[in-house]
Amino acid sequence: MDSAADRKYTFGPVPSRRLGLSLGVDLVPRKVCTQDCIYCQVGRTTDCTVRRGDFVPVDEVVAEIARVLPHVPRPDYITMSGSGEPTLNVRLGDVIDGVRRVTDVPVAVITNGTLLTDADVRRDCAKADLVVPSLDAADEATFQAVNRPARGLTLEGLVAGLVAFRSEFRGQLWLEVFLAAGCNDSDEQVAAMGRLIERIRPDRIDLNTATRPTADADVRAVSPERLAAIAAMLGSKACVVASFKASRTTEAMTVNENQALAMIRRRPVTIDDIAAGLGAHANEVAKVVGHLLESGLIRRSDRGGLAYYEAAEKP
Ligand code: SF4
Repeated sequence: MDSAADRKYTFGPVPSRRLGLSLGVDLVPRKVCTQDCIYCQVGRTTDCTVRRGDFVPVDEVVAEIARVLPHVPRPDYITMSGSGEPTLNVRLGDVIDGVRRVTDVPVAVITNGTLLTDADVRRDCAKADLVVPSLDAADEATFQAVNRPARGLTLEGLVAGLVAFRSEFRGQLWLEVFLAAGCNDSDEQVAAMGRLIERIRPDRIDLNTATRPTADADVRAVSPERLAAIAAMLGSKACVVASFKASRTTEAMTVNENQALAMIRRRPVTIDDIAAGLGAHANEVAKVVGHLLESGLIRRSDRGGLAYYEAAEKP
C-alpha cells in the first residue's frame, strides 16, 4: 500500500486545470531556483542559482515512481516540478529516461525556462511529451521585478532559449503567463508580450493569476473579466487557466492524514484540491484537515474567497 510517509520524491497525484491529474516529482530541494518570483506558491527562494546539481539519486526516484503508480489513480502526466526549478537537476534527462522504462504515462516538465539557453537543458527537456515554461514580462524591468532572477539572467536570454527550444522540440509547448494586477497586465505590456510570444511559437498560452497565497502577500489577482480580455488580445491559442473556484470530486475513499499533509507541504491547497488529488470525499478531507489544524502542523490562509491550507512552518 502506498504511504506518503514512505515517499521522498513524489507527491499527489494532484489536480491541475492544465494537466488533469498530475503525479509530481520533486527534483530539487526546497527552495533552489533560478528565480525568486513574487507570485511563487512554494515560498521565497533560499538558493537562487543557475548552477545545475546532482540533487537526487535517479534510481531511487524512478523506483519510487514505479512503486507509487499502482496505488494511486492513473495520472494524466508525471510532472517534473516541485519545490524549485527542475532543470537545475543535471540528471533531469536520466530521470525522464527512467520513467519511460517503468510506465507509459506521459511526462511533463514545468520550468521557468531560464536555463533553456543551455543545449544540455534543451536536450533533457526535449525528452518530455509536454514542456510548460513561463513568460511573465515583456521588458527587462518587469522581468527583474516580477521574476527576481539570479544575477546575469535577462529577459532577452529567456526568450532566446525558448525560441531555440521550440525549434528543436517536437512535443507540446504550453507557455504559462502569470499576470499580476498593476504589474504586467496593461494593454501595452500584453501587446509587447504578444510580440515575444509570436517569436516563441507555443502550442498554447495559459493565463494564470494569483488565486492562491503567493511569496509576496501583496500580489493582486487580475479579475476574470480582465483575464478574458487579455486572452482575446493574445489570440486563439490563449486560454485562462486561473482557477477561481476549486474543483469537486464525487469519489469516496479513506483519507490518509500523511498524504494530505504531504500535499499541503508542497503548496497551499484547498480541501477540494486535496479531495481530488487523493480521490477522497471532501467531508473526509475536512475532518483530516481539522486534525492537522488542531495539531498545529498546518495553518489556514484565505484568498479569493477560498480557504487554503499550508504548512505552519516553512523551512
Ligand atoms: S514560481 Fe517557479 S520559477 Fe518562480 S520562484 Fe517559484 S519555483 Fe522558481
